[in-house]
Amino acid sequence: MQRQSGWRSKSKQDIKAIYDFSERYKDFLDRAKTEREAVRCITEALTGSGFDLDPSQERVFAVNRNKTVMAFVRGSSDIIEGLNVVVAHIDAPRLDLKQNPLYEDVDLALLRTHYYGGIKKYQWVACPLAIHGVVIKADGRTVDICIGEGGDDPVFMIDDLLPHLSHRTQDGKKLSEAIEGEKLIVLFGSLPLAGTEKEPVKQYILKMLEDKYGMTEDDFITAELEVVPAFKARDVGLDRSMIGAYGQDDRASAYPLLEAICRVKGPRRNCLAIFADKEEIGSEGSTGIQSYFLKVFLDDIVNGMGLKADESVIRKVLYDSKALSADVNGAVNPTFQEVHEKQNASYLGRGICLTKFTGHRGKTGASDANAEYVAEVVRLFNDTGIVWQTGELGRVDEGGGGTVAKHLAVYGMDIIDCGPALLAMHSPYEISSKLDIYECYRAFSAFYAV
Ligand SMILES: [Zn+2]
Repeated sequence: MQRQSGWRSKSKQDIKAIYDFSERYKDFLDRAKTEREAVRCITEALTGSGFDLDPSQERVFAVNRNKTVMAFVRGSSDIIEGLNVVVAHIDAPRLDLKQNPLYEDVDLALLRTHYYGGIKKYQWVACPLAIHGVVIKADGRTVDICIGEGGDDPVFMIDDLLPHLSHRTQDGKKLSEAIEGEKLIVLFGSLPLAGTEKEPVKQYILKMLEDKYGMTEDDFITAELEVVPAFKARDVGLDRSMIGAYGQDDRASAYPLLEAICRVKGPRRNCLAIFADKEEIGSEGSTGIQSYFLKVFLDDIVNGMGLKADESVIRKVLYDSKALSADVNGAVNPTFQEVHEKQNASYLGRGICLTKFTGHRGKTGASDANAEYVAEVVRLFNDTGIVWQTGELGRVDEGGGGTVAKHLAVYGMDIIDCGPALLAMHSPYEISSKLDIYECYRAFSAFYAV
């Protein structure tokens, strides 16, 4: 059961292919920091690979409310035999602006936020931030916003207390309480509007928003503006073997999935790729994996094949499907090894990690893949030379987590979690191994080729 670094099995050419793949991945990370931007990049790539919105075609995709994408490739076998599904999510932990966010205090314009997903709040202060999103105007027009990414763009930040003054207020507190949610307040401006007495700094900002985006203060109510780290994806390590970037949970699975589905040609089984939203807050909502969008899409596909898509047909298709729930795992942290049970943990650079079950405290909330299906996937990975490992998230009773797997498992399909292991997972700057990302691509491709 002893495993080793996947790099040891790679030739010079392999390493070149891995590094080349990483360049495309980093570009995706920079262009797709929000779910809406990810949808845009994904649909562009799908369209470029011959996918069509017409469900009677062999390569079909559909978009749900600009936040979720599904892509289907018709196989030679009957769809009633089920699909090969790979699902990844495209939302990531971040700070959302509140609906009435803007105020002025101590001569500064500030924005209130409500965080989205599991973050360690202290990691979001004193670092450069960007604002991405949309404003829906009263007349229905959509204004796209992206500030903080261009080389010359301003960035934003959340102030932290100087160490000289944090002794009583912060230093003795628990890490989770030192920065409160309501204190995640974004610094937005400081110039006063000439000739204005009341809230001149806020008024200056409002004037700029009006001039630049045609936006009023009321328009914040009908906006979705997300505060994300302003960093670009970068190589990490002198040998450039790793990648540091925001949002790798779960773009580290979503991007390999995108390349895999785009390259599927003439498969035997019918293939489905799902890029889901809202995983980080429980897969709820109209764009989470729990919504009926999957069934609506399958209805269209089955109808598009000239078959009758009644409820029993769709149920049967889903029941006989096989799925990979592609999501990240927490790699063994070199300096906090005590939270892992190292015999059953995942390691950076040891390839795609198969996780039979997630959950917490006695597997609660886990989908727990059947041994028969685990064996099938292991056989596939071994037969196709995929570098893979197995690992669970942390020691028993240390904590835990969940994925979308259980929400697809309710249909009765076989599903197992797998994906790359990250360091600094859910931080503003997550670290992946280039090898692991590439092995995900190879694994998803092999799964579609069964
Ligand atoms: Zn995730």
